[in-house]
Amino acid sequence: MTKNTPFDGKMFVFTAPSGAGKTTIVRHLLKTFDFLDFSVSATTRKKRPKEKNGKDYYFLSVDEFNDLKRRRKFVEWEEVYDDQYYGTLKSEVSRLWELKKHIVFDIDVRGARDIKRKYRENCLAIFVKPPNLEIHIERLKNRKTESEDSLKKRISRIKREMRYEKKFDRVLVNDDLQTALTNAEKLITEFLENAESDDREN
Ligand code: ADP
Ligand code: 5GP
Repeated sequence: MTKNTPFDGKMFVFTAPSGAGKTTIVRHLLKTFDFLDFSVSATTRKKRPKEKNGKDYYFLSVDEFNDLKRRRKFVEWEEVYDDQYYGTLKSEVSRLWELKKHIVFDIDVRGARDIKRKYRENCLAIFVKPPNLEIHIERLKNRKTESEDSLKKRISRIKREMRYEKKFDRVLVNDDLQTALTNAEKLITEFLENAESDDREN
């Protein structure tokens, strides 16, 4: 990109059922590539002990979330679990593109489809997949972030959400972590290289 070329912002959407490894992979990519930044979602779920407001999520009350919904401030939003809302704010997308960053998302399968439909060739949607269901559930349990009730809800959604696998641009298998991280880096660099060569041809 030359100095006078307008910034052509891209999006990398990582999606999967809970516990598949999205957060682990996204954190690695943010550390590796300084041209990427994270889309901080709004949510009504409770903050986990290590999370920071404005960094991991914008933690909102249901009233605050509904107010933003009513004022059409979301690119997409979902009730991912009963009474737990999550959404991508329009202001977050414009904020990051103004900073000339390509945006990384960690969102559920339905939200990911909405973003892909809206941003099409500017978006690479990647479905993260553990080697099998047993290992997937084991990882979610070992993370020790969920109550018994929340764990049950999340496990019951895994099978349903795995059916979305074919709806995305790429599937990233997360078996050996180092291999998955390397493959994730490749997906990012290849997409940006192809986008740049398309720009040169047009
Ligand atoms: P998600 O963001 O999709 O809910 P996380 O990134 O929180 O998933 O990963 C779930 C748990 O599995 C975490 O405790 C994480 O450290 C662990 N984990 C992620 N990838 C691997 C892997 N390839 N091998 C072993 N453990 C993993
Ligand atoms: P967690 O509570 O584990 O942080 O996230 C639960 C689920 O909500 C995950 O699948 C996560 O990807 C998804 N999620 C997080 N932010 C958003 C968002 O802005 N929109 C949508 N649709 N899902 C989100």
